[in-house]
Amino acid sequence: MRVHLTATAAAAVRRGHPWVYRDAIADGGAHGGKRGERAPRGGGAAASGDVVELSAEGAPFLGRGLWDADSAIAVRVFQRTQAPPLDERAIAERLERAFALRDGWFAGRDTTAYRLCNGEGDRVPSLVIDRYDRAAVIRLDGGALAPWLDRLLPHLGRALGARGVRSIGLRATGARAGGLHATGARAGSEDADGKKLTHLHGPPLPDRLFVRETGVAMEVDLARGQKTGAFLDQRDNRARVRALAAGRRRVLNLFSYAGGFSVAAALGGAARVTSVDSASAAHASAQRTFRENGVDPAAHEFVTADAFDFLEKARARGDRYDLVICDPPSFAPSERAKPRALGAYRRLHAAVARVLDRGGVLCAASCSSHITAEDFLATLDDATLERDDLRIRAIHGQPEDHPTLPAWWEGRYLKFVVLE
Ligand code: SAH
Repeated sequence: MRVHLTATAAAAVRRGHPWVYRDAIADGGAHGGKRGERAPRGGGAAASGDVVELSAEGAPFLGRGLWDADSAIAVRVFQRTQAPPLDERAIAERLERAFALRDGWFAGRDTTAYRLCNGEGDRVPSLVIDRYDRAAVIRLDGGALAPWLDRLLPHLGRALGARGVRSIGLRATGARAGGLHATGARAGSEDADGKKLTHLHGPPLPDRLFVRETGVAMEVDLARGQKTGAFLDQRDNRARVRALAAGRRRVLNLFSYAGGFSVAAALGGAARVTSVDSASAAHASAQRTFRENGVDPAAHEFVTADAFDFLEKARARGDRYDLVICDPPSFAPSERAKPRALGAYRRLHAAVARVLDRGGVLCAASCSSHITAEDFLATLDDATLERDDLRIRAIHGQPEDHPTLPAWWEGRYLKFVVLE
């Protein structure tokens, strides 16, 4: 089947951008009528997972990808060359390359949780696989690969089994898991909220387990945690916080979730770490992680509160911190939300600056791809922070197991700015 692109979309595909939006299909791709049965030009009705060939004016073959009948991204582009064909063997080869790279990057037992495949960034668009020691959790972005999963699973079982992964699960929204069941994948336990883990392979996955991250034990909640269980993208930044924490008297970790930055600061030598999150279950997990690392949680503070409220009260009390980590959830899920998100970052950073000691360090993070590094830095300028004593010491991003592509700017979402 053939999908004919606009000139702009064709240029993006040539540069290596892995997505074709539905409105970038030259004739709108709107044949067929019924949802899920749109016909790419030149072909019959295409279903999610179908292989399509991309063309444009003057370019009979641009590449090959997989059709997604339901999401805004109509095609995930896998190949820009005629050979080999796009089949499970080609995909399995790319997965093997992604896994082999990690074998080198994470040799040793210092880190047992990492991203085995970062979708587009590993040239397997829409497929994310995270390893948590003996368990692997798959997340599919959209429906393009869902019909392929059953065929890929034997390969995954073998390739991951050889690396010590025993169980494989799928973390999916209700809709995606629903699509999967239709293809015959094993029935799972996912419910209406769509966040449950579906068992795909091997022994049942544990609900919770401890993994190691640069030598630090970390509890991961596979059954109920965020993302596939943990925010693996902050691993290197947690190690940086550990180094920054030496000799600090009071550390504040805002949006602390399972306490990854908190335990890093405590192990780094901070006398007292205050973790703030609106979810109390996250604190329970953080405290188990503290204990597992031989740190007494009673020497530290865990506050269940809205971060903005907490900052207001801390300021009123006159509390000051000499290291603050601020890693909120994405404020800008879409381009449209950007102006509001920038306003929210400004308000947050202004409030943080008021509780940061002179001579203190501020680590400010943003995980939204719609906010560029320059946009984000502007929310940390002198006017916003109402102070002129800080400088940018470093700007970090995501670690090597979250690779991106030059043309895929959307993949470079993480900013971690260290001001001192
Ligand atoms: N820094 C963490 C990841 C943070 S995820 C890590 O390294 O693992 C974002 C967290 O913010 C979630 O745990 C969520 O419960 C919390 N959260 C969301 N809105 C909040 C708010 N208004 N105040 C406090 N916490 C909030």
